[in-house]
Amino acid sequence: MIAEILAVGTELLMGQISNTNAQYISRRLNDTGVNVYFHSVVGDNPNRIKECLTLALKRSDAIIITGGLGPTRDDLTKETVSEIFGRKLIVNENCLNKIKTYFKNMNRPMVESNLKQAYFPENSVIMENSEGTAPGCYIEDNGKVVFMLPGPPSEMKPMFEKYVIPYFYSRTNCRIVSKYVKVFGIGESSVEKAIIDLIDRQSNPTIAPYAGSDIVTLRVSLRCDNDEIPEARLSPVIESIKERLGQAVFTVEDETMEEVVANLLMKKGITLALAESCSGGNLSALLTSMPGISQVFERAVVTYSNRSKIDELYVKLETIERYGAVSRQTALEMAVGIREKAETELGVSITGIAGPGGATAEKPVGLVYVGLATPGNTDCRELRIRGDRNRVQRVACLHALDMIRRYAMDR
Ligand code: ATP
Repeated sequence: MIAEILAVGTELLMGQISNTNAQYISRRLNDTGVNVYFHSVVGDNPNRIKECLTLALKRSDAIIITGGLGPTRDDLTKETVSEIFGRKLIVNENCLNKIKTYFKNMNRPMVESNLKQAYFPENSVIMENSEGTAPGCYIEDNGKVVFMLPGPPSEMKPMFEKYVIPYFYSRTNCRIVSKYVKVFGIGESSVEKAIIDLIDRQSNPTIAPYAGSDIVTLRVSLRCDNDEIPEARLSPVIESIKERLGQAVFTVEDETMEEVVANLLMKKGITLALAESCSGGNLSALLTSMPGISQVFERAVVTYSNRSKIDELYVKLETIERYGAVSRQTALEMAVGIREKAETELGVSITGIAGPGGATAEKPVGLVYVGLATPGNTDCRELRIRGDRNRVQRVACLHALDMIRRYAMDR
C-alpha cells in the first residue's frame, strides 16, 4: 500500500513551524508496513489544496492530511475533500452536542464558526479528538482512503494512534518491527566497516546505520506478519551486531544514554558524585532528569574557577600550576576529591575548553578530560571534540556517562 502525507497550513510554507507531523506519521507508517512515497505541504488555499489532493489520489492509495480542520474560514480540508469526492458536508449531531457541551463546560460563548467542526463529508467515519474540539474523519472511495487529522501534534498523535494505525494493521496483515542498536564511541564508518558483511547479507531483517551527531544508531527492521513473534528473527541479528561492536553498544531499546546509566546505577546501588567544570552542570542535569535517581546521586558541584577546584575538591595548587586546570592530573584530582568529600562509590569529573575562546597552542578548543575515581582505581579519558560550545559540553557529558556505564556493567 502506498501512502502520502499532505500537510495543510500556510505557517508551514512560511517556515514559521516545521512539519513534525509528517515526520511522525512517516515513522509510524513505516512500522505498519505501509510505504510512504511522498510528503507535500500546501497553504490554506482551496485551489492549491485541491490540486495537491487530485495528484495524491492519482499516485497513492492512502492520503493522510493534517491541519485545516479548525473553526476558522481558512480551515478548508473537509470542504475540499468533499468537493473532490462529490459528497455533501453533513452535520453529525453527536459531535455537535459534544462541541456545545464543551463550550458550556468551559463557560465560553460558542461562535457560529465552531459549528463547522461538526460537519463531515457524507459517509465518512469520524475520529474523536480526545485533546481538542476538532474531530477528524476518514473517507473511503474507490479503493482509496483519505484521513483528515488536526494540525496540532498534541491532537494529531493520539488520534493517529487510535484510528489510523489500527486501520493499516488490519489491512496490510503485515508490519515492520524495528529495534535500534545504539552505539557510542565509534564513528559511523568504523561501525559500518565492522558489520558490513552483516548489512550485505541481510534482506529481512535489514540493517541500516544512521548517524546522529554524537551517537550511531543501527536500525534493524523486520517485515513480518501480524501474528509472527518478531524477536525470533530480530534477536540473532542484534546478537551478531553486539558481538562485533562489544561494549560500544549501549542499548538495543528506545532509550537514551542517561536512561541506561541511571537504570544501571539504581539497579546496582552504585552511588556517585560529580565535579563539573566546562560542562557547567549539564551532566548533573542529564542524570537528575531521571526519576528515582536520588537513590544513588549524592551531589554535584560546578567548580569553574581554579580556586573552587582547590576549595571544594582538594585539587593541589601545584597540580594546576604545573599541568593546568585542563589536564589529566587535574581531572583525576577532581574526581578523587569529589568522591572523598561525598563518600560515594564513584567520583566523576569533567574539565576542558568548551570554546570558542580560551584555547592555547597546546590546548585547543574541544580538549576535554573526563576523570573517574572508583574504589581503589582511577581512569581518565582525553577527548578532542569538534564543534561548538554546546557540542563540546554535550559530547563530554556522553563520555562521562559512558565511563560510568562501563564501570557499572563490569561491577
Ligand atoms: P485548530 O483546530 O487548532 O485550528 P487545525 O486542524 O485547523 O487545528 P491548523 O490550524 O492547520 O490545524 O494548525 C494548528 C496548529 O497546529 C499550527 O499553528 C501548528 O502549531 C500546528 N501544526 C499544524 N500543522 C502542523 C504540522 N504539519 N506539523 C507540526 N505542527 C503543525
